[in-house]
This record gives sequence, structure tokens and C-alpha cells, in this order.
Amino acid sequence: MISVGQDFKWLHPVEKSAIFLSTVDDLDLLGVLPGAATAPYQPLRLPALFRQFSDLRETAEAVREFAAQYGLLGLASLGDPADREFLFAWHERSRWMRWCVSLWDALCDGDAKRGAALTRKPPPPMGYPSDRAKGLLRSAVNSPEEWMQVGMPEDVVQRQLLADVVNSELQLFTTDAIRLEVADYTGELHLATRGGTASLWLVLVWQLAESLAEKKVFQRCQVCNKWFAIEPGVNKVDRVLCSAACKSRAYRMRVARAQELAVAGKKAREIAKDIGSDVETVKKWIAGKKEG
Ligand SMILES: [Zn+2]
Repeated sequence: MISVGQDFKWLHPVEKSAIFLSTVDDLDLLGVLPGAATAPYQPLRLPALFRQFSDLRETAEAVREFAAQYGLLGLASLGDPADREFLFAWHERSRWMRWCVSLWDALCDGDAKRGAALTRKPPPPMGYPSDRAKGLLRSAVNSPEEWMQVGMPEDVVQRQLLADVVNSELQLFTTDAIRLEVADYTGELHLATRGGTASLWLVLVWQLAESLAEKKVFQRCQVCNKWFAIEPGVNKVDRVLCSAACKSRAYRMRVARAQELAVAGKKAREIAKDIGSDVETVKKWIAGKKEG
């Protein structure tokens, strides 16, 4: 398997207040204050980050929140000044990601109606005038109608369209940010990112492409509402809760709920039914013992 090095690092601001919003020529910008403290992290170790990005609301505050946690997208290589990014460029990209993720989910769910609706409205090409100046043109996306005319099944047409849309974005980066290289020790081919030009946006597009190719399954955590990847063969609890922290929080919430219901006069049997536990466990919780 080829993959981008997991150790790829990106910078995020240490303080949320380091992200500023401003307006230049009627265009809203966000950026990191000059001299603000930043710290490196490894975005590829957060495999569901692209899903989280696809949920991003199209408000300045939502974008600022995301940038404060994960840093700027790194659109500088596409013509933006290095320390500032246009808000519209963020909105455009979260919309693009949302379309890709929605079409993929529709395909996985066998939701032909939703898939067809999305196919009729693929996201428009994104970018800056400078892309064109640099000769970075998106590859043409073929028309789904043409494929259907030659008898390609509808779900295959949808997968083809999805691949075209994702490739049109990947292509922008392959010019210099990501390339095939022969590994030093093994002599095998692998995909490498170039530190200077790789970006968080590249990572998000890469995560999307990889998750489509590997049919990764993602789930929203029932406690913190964040997306996380479900590894094959995991048990039921690990399919609804993302981490040890959320598992213990869920446990504490259930105990607290049981105790609340007991105070409200509910019987152990009713409480057990309400929170989906057994009567013995509930009795222990009500008595104040902490046992699972
Ligand atoms: Zn969680």
C-alpha cells in the first residue's frame, strides 16, 4: 500500500485568540497573528478529520474554531498570502468535501435517489485566478449523462463522477506537493509529501481519497459527536464511542442518570429499562457503588 507519511506535521496556534478575522476589499480573511505561538501536530493521525471538516458550518466563527484547533488549510501554495486565507475559500472547500462525503454515504447506503440528486449538482471547480496563471487547471469532469447513455449502471456512474471530482483536486497538488519516490532503504515506491508545499487541505483531500479506496467506515461518537474511524472487528461499544475518555464519560452519565431517576422515585426495574442496563447494576449505582 502506498501512503502519505503518517509523521507529516502541521502547525496549529497554541491560543485560540491567535486566529484573527478581517476584511480586505470586501473579502473576509482569517489568519494567524504574526508572532503567535504555534505547535506541531500530526493531522494524518486523525483519520476522520476530513469528515469533521465536511461538517463545518459556513460561518466565520465555525471556521475560526476549526482553524484555532487544526491551523490554517495551507492554501498559500494556491496563491494566497502564507499567513491569511479567504473565508470563501474555506466555505467552498467544506462544501466540496460535504458533497463528496454525502455522495459516498448515499452509495454506501444504497440511497439511489439521494445519489442521483447529488450527481446532478457536482461542486463547481474551486480556486483562485492565480491557479490559472500557474497553469494549474482542473481536469474536465465527464458528463454523467454520457455514461448513462452508453449503459453504465447508475451507481458506477456516481463512483466515476466522485473519482473525477476528487482527482481534479488531487491533481492540483501532485504538481509538487505530493509525488512518487523510491524509498531510501527498501527501494520500494511510496508517495511522499514535500514539507514546504504540503498542506492541511492536501491531507484532508488525501484522507478522503484513501477512505474511499479502502472503504473505511466512520461513525459519530454518541458522547462528543466527533467522527471517528471504526476498525474492522471491533466490539459494539467501540462502534459508538470514540475513545476511553468518552467511554468513561458515557459511564458516568449513565450512573448519574440512574441516580437522578431514583431520586425522582423510579423503581430499579424501570431505571434499568430506561438506561438499558440490568437491575442488579442499577441497584449498585443507586446505592452509590461504582461498578459496571
Ligand atoms: Zn467521543
